[in-house]
Amino acid sequence: MALIVHKYGGTSMGSTERIRNVAKRVAKWHRAGHQMVVVPSAMSGETNRLLGLARELAPGNETASFHRELDMIAATGEQVSVGLLAIALQAEGLDAVSYTGWQVPVQTDSAFTKARIQRIDDARVRADLGAGKVVVITGFQGIDPDGHITTLGRGGSDTSAVAVAAAMKAAECLIYTDVDGVYTTDPRVVPEARRLAAISFEEMLEMASLGSKVLQIRSVEFAGKYRVPLRVLSSFTPWDIDLAQEAASGTLITFEEDENMEQAVVSGIAFNRDEAKVTVTGVPDRPGIAFQILGPVADANIDVDVIIQNVSHDGRTDFSFTVHRNDYVRTIELLEASVLPATGAEQVTGDPKICKVSIVGIGMRSHVGVASKMFRVLSEEGINIQMISTSEIKTSVVIDEKYMELAVRALHKAFGLDAPAPMPAA
Ligand code: ADP
Ligand code: ASP
Ligand code: MG
Repeated sequence: MALIVHKYGGTSMGSTERIRNVAKRVAKWHRAGHQMVVVPSAMSGETNRLLGLARELAPGNETASFHRELDMIAATGEQVSVGLLAIALQAEGLDAVSYTGWQVPVQTDSAFTKARIQRIDDARVRADLGAGKVVVITGFQGIDPDGHITTLGRGGSDTSAVAVAAAMKAAECLIYTDVDGVYTTDPRVVPEARRLAAISFEEMLEMASLGSKVLQIRSVEFAGKYRVPLRVLSSFTPWDIDLAQEAASGTLITFEEDENMEQAVVSGIAFNRDEAKVTVTGVPDRPGIAFQILGPVADANIDVDVIIQNVSHDGRTDFSFTVHRNDYVRTIELLEASVLPATGAEQVTGDPKICKVSIVGIGMRSHVGVASKMFRVLSEEGINIQMISTSEIKTSVVIDEKYMELAVRALHKAFGLDAPAPMPAA
């Protein structure tokens, strides 16, 4: 008997029929003798709908008090899900109970809409499990030290599930979703993408941070920090398939590089359309200038990603960086209002229609020429690279958004990631 955490995403919880299916699957695991904690997301589309209502009333509002109310509203999506799932489990003849984040409690900091989990008190959940109950806990939400409801950022139910698994020292955390594992790239963009039987924790961390939304980055961080065995698998298989077969399906996130893992140099391709590029031109090239530009941006709580500063001509240079697209207008306004006058820079320009495409693989550590191959492939497609950023196991480029799919497909093929073509019929 083991303690197992299951997480079900929005599509998997998308209708009462699907919720019934989830309940039947969980019941199968419970009847096999496992203690079960289930963490569902809001029904698909619900979080968008709720946030849309709020934004209709206050377009452009980014104040802390508005964000507090966003969390109050968005958290209800998951509250509905846990109640419905508990009812469906009861209909399967199980003793089930649902809790919101504040009831557990899942304690977070106070960063509304992107709160971080700090501590989970598992006493109540343990007592229920001990009494033979299935416990259903809301994904995505928690409570801050002052008793305000918080949410963990989009896709945050993954993090809730892994954090619960870590706090309770669960034997495994299974992330059930609408694809049957982690692929070499998003299978919705590249139909030739292949499922990986296993992916290293470090590669998964890069893939998630570079835009593969199959797992929220913080869930991968938690899994790494607390060594939570983590698997991504499909919620769309028939609920009554053999449990051992189900338990071995999907993609395992591994912490040791074992020899059974595929030895590809590049394991996956991630992309992100959520960024925008900002350029400050004619910046006086003197010590402290990067801080003078990026300091006010950081003070406004705007995260900066790729940064480049050009060589200077006649004592002036250009300075470019990317921010989240939601922060684009705010960043331009801020730079125009405070940074231009303070630094004597000439102009602020930008482009919100860019994207970042990244190749990821631990094999890049021991192979040279991987980045240059990436640049060659893109040049052969006529795609101009605007910015480049590298680390030990990834290379990212910023390109025009309209070439994103072309770039991802070309790189996927060039690095040998395409699935083999099906055998022709005899
Ligand atoms: P859930 O609602 O279950 O949390 P998400 O939509 O958040 O599901 O994440 C699953 C989606 O992630 C898939 O439908 C797929 O389109 C996308 N995705 C992006 N990159 C990958 C990848 N490398 N492998 C698998 N899925 C990916
Ligand atoms: N419901 C939340 C969202 O849509 C959390 C999640 O699905 O993980 O972002
Ligand atoms: Mg998700």
